[in-house]
Amino acid sequence: MHRMIKTICIIVVVCLLFATSGASAAQYIYYDSGLRSPIVVVNVIDAMGVFGIAQTKWHNTNTCVQIVQGTGNDVSTIVAENLASSWYGCYTPLSREHLFFWGRAYKCKITLNTQLLANKSATFRASVLVHEFGHAFCLDDNPSSGNLSIMNYDRDRNYLSWPTTDDIAGVNYAYGE
Ligand SMILES: [Zn+2]
Repeated sequence: MHRMIKTICIIVVVCLLFATSGASAAQYIYYDSGLRSPIVVVNVIDAMGVFGIAQTKWHNTNTCVQIVQGTGNDVSTIVAENLASSWYGCYTPLSREHLFFWGRAYKCKITLNTQLLANKSATFRASVLVHEFGHAFCLDDNPSSGNLSIMNYDRDRNYLSWPTTDDIAGVNYAYGE
């Protein structure tokens, strides 16, 4: 009987340790509509002047992602549109893996909203574009507080414009690194 109580106590302590360590840091959330390939060929129609910055931020990560420019119908696109929407940027998966509407995407469209971004700093706009590429690389929006992830809603976009350790872990999980 005492042995059983002791075993239960050990289990409870282990569970508490896991619970507290998990709660202290933001954790990436896998997004199942990212791109099949970590190499994205993109036609930059209009990226509001921050394509090169966003590309470099992702290339500086310890992941297998590559963002290269290209043209044609089979590539992803970045466009800027003046929209009366509440979002800064939007990721749309296209040419889906299963039945054309489900699963990972062969290409995507990233839209930047000029109405909300025109008067923002380059860092702010880069933060938005790096975030949208995060969706392309299978990271979901992360509602948790703090500046631990480019996928956080409440990150300071005038500061955090790079993929963090947590984001890198999420991308490497998605692409089996
Ligand atoms: Zn998002």
